[in-house]
Amino acid sequence: MTARLLDGKAIAAAIRESVLPDVRAFAARAGRPPGLGIVLVGQDPASEVYVRNKVRAGSESGLWVDLQRLPATASLDDLLSLVERLNDSDTHDGILVQSPLPAAMGKGASQRVFDAIDPEKDVDGFHPVNVGKLVQGRAHLMPCTPSGVIEMLQRSDIPIGGRHAVVIGRSEIVGKPMAMLLLQRDATVTICHSKTPDLAAVAARADILVAAIGRPGFVTREFVKPGATVVDVGISPVTDPAIARRLFDESSPRLADFLRRGSIVVGDVHPSVAEVAGALTPVPGGVGPLTIAMLLKNTCTAASARHSGT
Ligand code: NAP
Repeated sequence: MTARLLDGKAIAAAIRESVLPDVRAFAARAGRPPGLGIVLVGQDPASEVYVRNKVRAGSESGLWVDLQRLPATASLDDLLSLVERLNDSDTHDGILVQSPLPAAMGKGASQRVFDAIDPEKDVDGFHPVNVGKLVQGRAHLMPCTPSGVIEMLQRSDIPIGGRHAVVIGRSEIVGKPMAMLLLQRDATVTICHSKTPDLAAVAARADILVAAIGRPGFVTREFVKPGATVVDVGISPVTDPAIARRLFDESSPRLADFLRRGSIVVGDVHPSVAEVAGALTPVPGGVGPLTIAMLLKNTCTAASARHSGT
């Protein structure tokens, strides 16, 4: 068996297309486009790439995207003041503070920042009010990556209700909300993490397996029931040739790509899983583009909700 590849780029393009009429309708009503404030602290190379992609995608969809940069030396108070200013701004409908924050800001800094964002502008869906609403099944701003996964499953006609879903990873931004969204769609959900015994055996009972771990090629074919849908959320840069060779055989174009560039981006799922799974999301080109599409959708949702009376 060779798994059907779920084309995240195509699905993301369809979502972005569906957002355009909402952007135009909002602009006609409010006299300005929906506005997204993105805050980037420091110059983490991966964050630079993510933010650049978000700015470009937002602008292409007709949003006003305001990138606010702070130096890596900025204090947590500087960042909280900026968030406060964006909260008070009428033209910023959505606010996103790119993670990770510089370690010097201290442990717990991210949570303090998420707590400070106006819940109505919280397009990442990380504010406790929106997390609580998500648990109760009444959120309108939900974390972008897991809601993108749900869109992908639905648009690919993969049934969720009545299926057994296993989520590996229990982070606040992916694993937990992913499990909650699958539960709300009537899946029977198992959440696994680093202390789960017999992980491969638990995972191999899944009809839908979501890997959100951050370990290159961790999920091997023993983790996968034949025919299962496997969603690979992981994104890890690999620069070690030994790891690249563990993932890709000598004839693989991806290994050739690695040898040419000296690095490659891979997911949590080992490529050999494609021989067992029924459907699989590639990395890159799977969940990543959906995350950005859902951010644009959330920004439109936030803008419309804030201006529903105008
Ligand atoms: P995270 O906060 O580091 O959480 C990782 C989770 O994986 C934790 O719950 C951890 O368990 C679990 N884990 C780690 N090692 C494990 C092991 N050996 N066995 C079982 N579970 C293990 O990471 P995250 O923010 O959720 O992100 C996960 C991955 O998704 C990363 O590669 C990240 O780059 C990627 N990501 C992609 C997108 C996208 O748009 N595609 C968006 C966000 C994140 P414990 O809780 O027990 O430590």
